[in-house]
Amino acid sequence: MSRIVKGRLLSFRDAPRHGGGYDYIENGALRIENGLIAEIGEARDVLSRAPEGTPVDDHSGRLILPGFVDAHIHYPQTRVIGSYGTQLLEWLQKYTFVEEQKFSDPAHAAVVARFFLDELFRQGTTTAVVYCTVAPESAEAFFAEAERRGARMIAGKVMMDRNAPPALTDDPQRGYDESKALLLKWHGRGRLGYAITPRFAITSSPAQLEAAGALRQEFPDTHVQTHLSENHAEIALTKSLYPQARDYLDVYERAGLVGPKSVFGHCIHLEPREIEALSRLRGVAAFCPTSNLFLGSGLFDEAGLDKAGVRVALATDVGGGTSYSLLQTANEAYKVLQMRGQSWPAFQAFYQLTLGNARALGLEDRIGALAPGREADLVVLDARGTPAMAHRMESVRRDLAEELFVLMTMGDDRAVAQTYVGGERAKT
Ligand SMILES: [Zn+2]
Repeated sequence: MSRIVKGRLLSFRDAPRHGGGYDYIENGALRIENGLIAEIGEARDVLSRAPEGTPVDDHSGRLILPGFVDAHIHYPQTRVIGSYGTQLLEWLQKYTFVEEQKFSDPAHAAVVARFFLDELFRQGTTTAVVYCTVAPESAEAFFAEAERRGARMIAGKVMMDRNAPPALTDDPQRGYDESKALLLKWHGRGRLGYAITPRFAITSSPAQLEAAGALRQEFPDTHVQTHLSENHAEIALTKSLYPQARDYLDVYERAGLVGPKSVFGHCIHLEPREIEALSRLRGVAAFCPTSNLFLGSGLFDEAGLDKAGVRVALATDVGGGTSYSLLQTANEAYKVLQMRGQSWPAFQAFYQLTLGNARALGLEDRIGALAPGREADLVVLDARGTPAMAHRMESVRRDLAEELFVLMTMGDDRAVAQTYVGGERAKT
C-alpha cells in the first residue's frame, strides 16, 4: 500500500532546550510504503519520483508532524473523566474502583477499547502507554483492538492485591501468572508492547512488587509503569505501608522495578535522594498536568528534574486528567510551569509530544520523527481549526513558533485535520 502525504513537514532532531534543531519543509511530501515512511522531501521531488498512480493526500498549508505520544493513560477511566470534587485516594475509591470492576466483562471492555482508540486518533495521538484493569479480559480487549488497527501501543494488566475492592484484586502469584500470560501472547506482536503494571505501592503488597520485579528480570525488554509521589496523603500512606523503604521510590527500587523502561506517573513531591536515584537509574517521570491540577496534587518541577538529568515525558493521565488532547495537555503544562516560574517554549512542547516522548519510551528508532524507515504515524494540524483560532491566526505572519503556540494554547481535536496510523487515515 503506497500513498503520498503533502503538507508542511515538521520534525525534531533533538530537544530545542538543549540546542537541538528541527527539519521543516514548507512544501513537503512524504511517500509511505507498507506502513513506513519511504521517502521525505520537497513535494515536487517526491511526486516526480513516485510510481504513476500513487494516491496523494493533499494537506497543503497544514502542518504535518509525527503522531503524538501519550506516556500515561488509563483506558478504563473513559467514563469517570470529569468526576467531581475529590483528591487522589478518595477519587480512586469513589469513582475509579467502581468503574474498573466492569472490565471483567469482555464485551464491555471491547466497547470501551474501541471508543478509546477512536478518541486517541481523533486527537492525533498514535502511541500511548496504557493501564488496563486488574482483569486480564481488559488487557485482552485492548490489545486485540490495538492490533486490529495496527497501532503502536504499550499496555498492561494492573496488578493490585490490597487496599481495593475484592473484585479488583489479584494476589502475587495470580498477578504474576496473568501478567506473564498476557506478555507472552502480546509483547512484540505487531506493534504492541507489554508494560508490567503494578498500580502503585499502596495497592500492591511487598510480595506482589517482588513478583513484578521478577517478571521484569525475566523480560527486560518490557516496560514497567506505575505511579509515584503524586499526593501528600498517598506518600504518607506508602511510607507507613513500607517502613523499611528509604522513601517512596525506594519501594520500587527494592523490587527491581526502576530502570530505563520504567515510567512513573506524576513525580511531583520527590525528595532529593529520589531525584538522584531516578536520574542515575534512567527512570522516566511522566508529567500529567491536567490530572495534577484537577486532583489538586501539585505542580511538577520540569526544569528541576531536567537539570538533575531525569528523563521526562508528557502525559494526559485520563481519567484523573481532564483531556485526551495532548495539545490541551501542553497548554496546561505551560501554565503549571508558569506557576513555577519556568519557561516552556512551543518548540520544546512539540518536541516533547513527538520525539521527546518517543525517546522517553525508548521508541525513537521507530516513531517520533519524519524520516525514511520510521513508522508512518502522523498528525496533520490546522491552526485555523476553530473560528477563534482562525481569527487569532490573522495576526500570525509566517512565524512557526507563534503558530505552534496558538495550536497548543487554543487547539484540541478540532485542530487535528487528520491522523495516520501505520500510513492509513485513522481519524473518523
Ligand atoms: Zn495514572
